[in-house]
Amino acid sequence: MLKIGLTGGIGSGKTQVTNQLQALGATIVDTDVIAHRLTHPQGAAIEAIRTQFGAEFIQADGSMNRALMRSVVFNQPQQRQRLEAILHPLIRQAAQSAIISAQGLYTVVVVPLLAEHPEWVRWVDRVCVVDCDAATQLKRVQQRTGLSLEQAQQMVQAQASRAQRLALADDIILNDGATDVATLQARVLRQHQHWLTLRP
Ligand code: ADP
Repeated sequence: MLKIGLTGGIGSGKTQVTNQLQALGATIVDTDVIAHRLTHPQGAAIEAIRTQFGAEFIQADGSMNRALMRSVVFNQPQQRQRLEAILHPLIRQAAQSAIISAQGLYTVVVVPLLAEHPEWVRWVDRVCVVDCDAATQLKRVQQRTGLSLEQAQQMVQAQASRAQRLALADDIILNDGATDVATLQARVLRQHQHWLTLRP
């Protein structure tokens, strides 16, 4: 089945695009959802996190203590790498099995950090970037989260740049500040129709 890797910066509109593609008949495999599931109670990453980071990183309900983990990996690249070494192979494994069992017209693998982890490119046939200028991203992130401009800037700047993402793109869905929802929907529909013609 045709596999599309879909990425975009925070606030670019990935969720909006993904929801529409799902309604059009695509199967969605979301690596963020998978990552969360891995660190829920009885998640496949829990025992490795307990062993490697310590019991205090697991809450009474058996889930990862997200706030504690965030405080540790933030600004400590080595700890971040340790966590990623646990999570990434499990995310890939779970995504692979979801891809293999996928029904539907084609599969969209949502990888928000694809530009930061370009090894994902190997697992998909094409990369699609939901593209947005940084100023609009900031505005949307602030509106959605209530964060200050400075906090939103930090989140956007911590990610790959627009140019780094676009360099990987086979397909681009523009959702910038000049794009209203109806225009975005029309672009997504056109992209969907194009992908239908590429199915093996
Ligand atoms: P992402 O999943 O990439 O972080 P979302 O799809 O959640 O982005 O979009 C971020 C926010 O911006 C949401 O609140 C969404 O409703 C809004 N949004 C996205 N695209 C548009 C658009 N073209 N016009 C208006 N609001 C938009």
